[in-house]
Amino acid sequence: MEKKNIDWSNLGFGYIQTDLRYVSNYKNGAWDEGTLSSDSMITLSECAGVLQYAQTIFEGLKAYTTEDGHIVTFRPDLNASRLADSAKRLEMPVFPEDRFVDAVVKVVEANAAYVPPFGSGATLYLRPYMFGTNPVIGVKPADEYQFRLFCTPVGPYFKGGAKPITIRVSDFDRAAPNGTGHIKAGLNYAMSLHAIVSAHEAGFDENMYLDPKTRTKVEETGGANFLFVTKDNKIVTPKSNSILPSITRRSLVYVAKEYLGLEVEEREVFFDEVKDFAECGLCGTAAVISPVGKINDHGKEICFPSGMEKMGPTTQKLYDTLTGIQMGKIEAPEGWIKVIK
Ligand SMILES: *Cc1c(COP(=O)(O)O)cnc(C)c1O
Repeated sequence: MEKKNIDWSNLGFGYIQTDLRYVSNYKNGAWDEGTLSSDSMITLSECAGVLQYAQTIFEGLKAYTTEDGHIVTFRPDLNASRLADSAKRLEMPVFPEDRFVDAVVKVVEANAAYVPPFGSGATLYLRPYMFGTNPVIGVKPADEYQFRLFCTPVGPYFKGGAKPITIRVSDFDRAAPNGTGHIKAGLNYAMSLHAIVSAHEAGFDENMYLDPKTRTKVEETGGANFLFVTKDNKIVTPKSNSILPSITRRSLVYVAKEYLGLEVEEREVFFDEVKDFAECGLCGTAAVISPVGKINDHGKEICFPSGMEKMGPTTQKLYDTLTGIQMGKIEAPEGWIKVIK
């Protein structure tokens, strides 16, 4: 297979149209058989449920080339089950989890020429999503839906090494108590846009959201979960029912315990404790871990001992071990790596 003529190491994180995407439609209470399509456009009713009442959910995962030349994805079954959880919360039909994984395989196989080569740092980003398609004007769930999965090649998250970022404590909330913070829905992102644009305007890379009810506990950022390292080298990660259950964070917790022999506490984390931690990182598919060097709380700075130059030593170990597992250099736990070809 001839790879596309793309400058892999200079790719950014943007949409590049690829050859084929998977499409399946839900109508009269059932999903159709689904197909690969060369059509990147969607024609919808002007009154489609997604356009009126934001009935849309999504996932994000990556396909990449391992050192020995295989194309693989990482734990796609967890994306399938998380999409099912999101669907239930928004009164959408569940797309069968085995068919989700099958769609991942089909789209990656069909676009293998867009999977960046090993060592480029680039990956093929997969975006599965589902939305209400039929006209809905009175407020209720749609009756018809589309599941779609496209892919786009994206560049390395960190060009020239992972530099610690500076984040601020946000005055906006990303989720309501008992709301939808635990599902991957576009609506959570729509309401985070003003917060992130104003954070950037103020010179910060990200927002730290606190729990919306008491504003005393750490939740997450707009798109990544927190992981802290204590001064005596324990891992601490916030637990809350309004945090999105990051697959990267869950995998790092496993790696910390089973590969690195570290103690892990998944519990409520009060903001007051944060100043005593040694390291801080943000976990998500895009970067695996982004190190946080500094947190600005309304002008008061918390500077982690790991500094602004590089990841802290334990964060680095976690990062190296998980990326080593993903790239096939370190033996993976059963079922983590889905070999596509
Ligand atoms: C997708 C997402 C994450 C990261 O999840 P991964 O499965 O690790 O990619 C974290 N927080 C939010 C709000 C998200 O939407």
